[in-house]
Parts: sequence; C-alpha cells; structure tokens
Amino acid sequence: MNYLTPEQDHKIRRWERWNRNYFMFAFVALVVILVFGSQLGLSSDVSWDIPGILAVLVIVLIVLFQLKLTCPACDRKIGWHAKLMAPDQCPHCHTFLRSKEH
Ligand SMILES: [Zn+2]
Repeated sequence: MNYLTPEQDHKIRRWERWNRNYFMFAFVALVVILVFGSQLGLSSDVSWDIPGILAVLVIVLIVLFQLKLTCPACDRKIGWHAKLMAPDQCPHCHTFLRSKEH
C-alpha cells in the first residue's frame, strides 16, 4: 500500500482547509445574495440579473476548487471524488491520501 510523504500530506490538508473555508464562505454569500435579492425584488422591480450572476460565480468557484485537487502521487485530478474533503484513496493509483504516520 502506498502512502503520501508528510509534505504531500501537508498539501492535501491545506487544500481541505481552503476548500472547507471557501465552501462556508460560499454558503454565507449565497444566503446574503438570496436575502438581498429578494429584498430588492420586493421594494422595486430590480431584476435578478446581478444577484443571479453573483450566485453563479460563487458556485462556479466551488467547482473550480474541486477540480484543482490533484493526487500528489500520480498527478491526476481527483475532481468530483473529493467533495468537501479529500477521499481516503486516490481513485486512479489507489495511494492513500495521507501520510503513514497518521
Ligand atoms: Zn493518484
């Protein structure tokens, strides 16, 4: 069984931290956009164009974050297998995505 080196493990943990932080930020941002958007919509006939574009941007960035994660062992993209946290094993080379000391 292959494990990551501590440096490679550090890279994955850093990605997880950023990914989780961004996800929480995105969640708050979407709520704010929805609340502000509906308030604007109630008080006038402002269209949903700008809140809509912002919401799409926030969601696109979540996707980009997911696609940024590559396996440090084989350099292939882990992509949607990741979700919020990196998976236990790389789906391509089956290396455990943590160092052996863990
Ligand atoms: Zn791999």
